Amino acid sequence: MEKGAILEVRNLHKHYPGVKAVNGIDFAVPKGICFGLLGPNGAGKTTTIEMMEGIIKPTSGEILYKSELQGARFRQEAGIQFQSTALQDFLTVRENLKFFGSLYPDGLPLEALVEICRLQEYLDRDASKLSGGQRQRMLLAIALVNDPDVVFLDEPTTGLDPQARLNFWELVNSIKARNKTVLLTTHYMEEAYNLCDEIAIMDHGKIIAHGSPDDLLAAHFHDVIIELPERDFPEAARDIPHRYLDNVTGTVEIITSDVNGTLALLMQHGASLAGLQVRPRSLEDLFLELTGKELRA
Ligand code: ATP
Repeated sequence: MEKGAILEVRNLHKHYPGVKAVNGIDFAVPKGICFGLLGPNGAGKTTTIEMMEGIIKPTSGEILYKSELQGARFRQEAGIQFQSTALQDFLTVRENLKFFGSLYPDGLPLEALVEICRLQEYLDRDASKLSGGQRQRMLLAIALVNDPDVVFLDEPTTGLDPQARLNFWELVNSIKARNKTVLLTTHYMEEAYNLCDEIAIMDHGKIIAHGSPDDLLAAHFHDVIIELPERDFPEAARDIPHRYLDNVTGTVEIITSDVNGTLALLMQHGASLAGLQVRPRSLEDLFLELTGKELRA
C-alpha cells in the first residue's frame, strides 16, 4: 500500500460484453484529501467509483482500504451519497436522518448532521418538497450518518444552480476540514479545480492524467490565452492563429507563449486592446486537449 494512502486501486478492470468499461487502472488516494475522478460521458468514472464503493464487483484487480482488501471495515467506515436513495419521500428530513442513523448506533448525532449540512430550516419538511440543493444536502447528511472516514460523492452538484453549487462546495470543504477523505466525480471543471487536491482524468476506461490540478496545468501548458471581442480583431490580423470561443459571445482566442510579441502584432494591425483579456490555461482547456471532447455535451 502506498504510504499515507487510505484507498488504493490496483490493475482494476471491469468488462461487460463488448465494452471494457474500466480497463486496467492504478491509483492511490492519500488520506484527508479530495480526490476527483473526471472524464467525458462513458469514460468509466461511475463504474470505477461503484467498484471502490463495493457496489459492483471488479472483473479483476484489487481495491485496498487502509492496507486491507476492501471488506467489512470499509463498509463500516465509508459513506456514500447516492443520487437517489430508496429514501421515502413521504418522510420528513428528520425522519429520514433518524431512520438511517438507527442503522449505525455509533454514528453522528442528528444535531451534528443538521449543523454540518445546514438542514435546520428543513428538518420537518417532507423530503419530496425539497429543492435540488436542499435534497443534495439531505443526501449528504445521510452519507455522513456513520461519521465515515471516506465519503463518495458521485456528481453531487449536477443540476444545481450556481448558488446551491457554491453552498455545496463549502460543505465539502468543511468535511475535508474534519480530516475526512472525499472521492468526487464531476462534470464541472471549475468544481474540480476548486475542490480537488488531486484529480485523475479517465477516458476509454483508462487514466490518461493524474496529479494536482496546478501541477497538471504546469506540465501541459506553457502558454496563455488572449481573448478579445471579434469586432476588435481586424481583418489584417487574421493571419495570427486564432479560434472562436463560441458563436454566441463573438470572442476570439489566441493561444500564445509570447504575450508581448502577440500584443505588439495586434497593435501593429490596428486592433483595439480595450476589451482584451489574458487568461491562464484552465482545467477545461486541459480536458479538451487530453480527451478532444467538450465536457458538457
Ligand atoms: P457518465 O459521465 O456518462 O456518467 P461514466 O464515465 O460514469 O459516464 P460509466 O457509467 O462508468 O461511464 O460507463 C463506462 C462504459 O461502460 C460505458 O460505455 C457504459 O455504456 C458501459 N457500462 C456501464 N455499466 C454497464 C453495464 N451494467 N452493462 C454494460 N455496459 C455498461
